[in-house]
Amino acid sequence: MLRGCLVDQFCIFCVFFPETCDHLFRDCILVRYIRICDEGSDASELDAGDVRRLWTDASNIPNAATRSKSLTRLAAIWWVIWTERNNTIFRKVLSNAIRALERVASLTNVWNGALWPLLVPSSMLSPHFFIFVIDPAFLVYFV
Ligand SMILES: [Zn+2]
Repeated sequence: MLRGCLVDQFCIFCVFFPETCDHLFRDCILVRYIRICDEGSDASELDAGDVRRLWTDASNIPNAATRSKSLTRLAAIWWVIWTERNNTIFRKVLSNAIRALERVASLTNVWNGALWPLLVPSSMLSPHFFIFVIDPAFLVYFV
């Protein structure tokens, strides 16, 4: 029970594993499918530590444009996973991997083109300090 809501402790997508941050955003079959299908991901990224490590690795990419695109892609994937999860749990909308993949591509294009340079100055891309809020119920806080 979190925030007064009774939610199944197992992942809503695969049902086999407890829903942890690392499982939902890194290990689950849905997020792996999205990351593999996304042209920017390769198999070596899939097993690289936990979600914090994924964000840190992307934050440490030396080239600013590549770093920005990688962080945007990762944020879009996590946002889509989070909203697919919530829609499944709270609105009884079945998750759809193809729809999720299309949403990631759409969000990535929009954010890369317009929002990212305005919302996150490069000084905030440090792997040691980052607060990312895109929904009152969704907070990623890396210190
Ligand atoms: Zn799962």
